[in-house]
Amino acid sequence: MREISTQKITDEVKKMCISANCNLNPDIYSALNTALETEPSPVGCEMLRQLIQNADIARTENIPICQDTGLAVVFVTIGQEVHISGGFLEEAINEGVRLGYKEGYLRKSVVKDPFIRVNTGDNTPAVIHYSIVPGDSLKIEIAPKGAGSENMSKIFMLKPADGIEGAKKAVIGAVEAAGPNPCPPMIIGVGCGGNFEKSAMLAKKALLRPVGSHSHIPHIRDMEEELLEKINRTGIGPQGLGGKTTALAVNIETCATHIACMPVAVNISCHVTRHAVYEF
Ligand code: SF4
Repeated sequence: MREISTQKITDEVKKMCISANCNLNPDIYSALNTALETEPSPVGCEMLRQLIQNADIARTENIPICQDTGLAVVFVTIGQEVHISGGFLEEAINEGVRLGYKEGYLRKSVVKDPFIRVNTGDNTPAVIHYSIVPGDSLKIEIAPKGAGSENMSKIFMLKPADGIEGAKKAVIGAVEAAGPNPCPPMIIGVGCGGNFEKSAMLAKKALLRPVGSHSHIPHIRDMEEELLEKINRTGIGPQGLGGKTTALAVNIETCATHIACMPVAVNISCHVTRHAVYEF
C-alpha cells in the first residue's frame, strides 16, 4: 500500500489551479499560431494575434488568461493500492482549490445555491470525478471551466436510427447555435454512447485530450476530421467576427450504450480550455 499525504495533494492542486489559469496549454498556443498562417479573414487574423498576445502577457506576468477563471473541474484517477493519509481526499482537493484561487488572485465564481446565489467566497466546492484503477498511482487533472462556453453545451437523446449522420448534425447544430458566445476558436468535446450522464462525462473528458490528437477508432477519427472541417466552414471565425478558424479541435469519446439509446453530448470549450495534470 502506497501512502500519499493530503498536504501534498493540497499543495499540488493549489499550484495546478494557478498554472492552468495563467499558462495557455502549449497544444492550444501552437494551434492558434498555426491557424494564423491559414486564416483568410484579416479580422480573424487580428483576433488570433490578440489571443496569442493575451496568452503571452498572462504567462509572463502570471495573471489569468481570462477574467472567468472557472469552476474547478477535477478528475481523480486513484489506484486501489493507494492510502491517503492525514485527512479526507475531497477536503484536501477543495483546500487546494481554495488556496489556489486566493493566492493566485483568481476570480471566485461559485455560488452556494443555484437560486439564492450567494458566492461561497473561495471558489469551492470543486466538481470532482473519481475513477478507481488497479495499482498504486494517483493522477489529478484540473480543468477549470468558464461559464460562457459551458452554457453553450447540449445533450441530444438521439434514436439509434439517426446514425452517425444524426450525431454529426447534432454537433454542428450545437456549434451553430453557440455562435460567438463560447469565445471561439472553440475546442469541442463530444461524448457518444452510454446514457444521459455518461455521455456528458465523456464529452467533458474529451476536452482533456490534446489538440491534434485523434481517436484510435477509425470511423470516429474520420468523424472528428469531418466535423472540424465542416465547423470551420460555418464562418463563425475567431471571436465570432468571421473567418474559418471557428474550432481548433473536435475530440470524440465513445462507449457502449443501450440497444434503444444513442446519446450525444456536446461540451463546448473556448480558446482558453484549461488543463493541468499531476501524477503522484
Ligand atoms: S468562454 Fe472562455 S474565454 Fe470566454 S469568457 Fe468564458 S472562460 Fe473566458
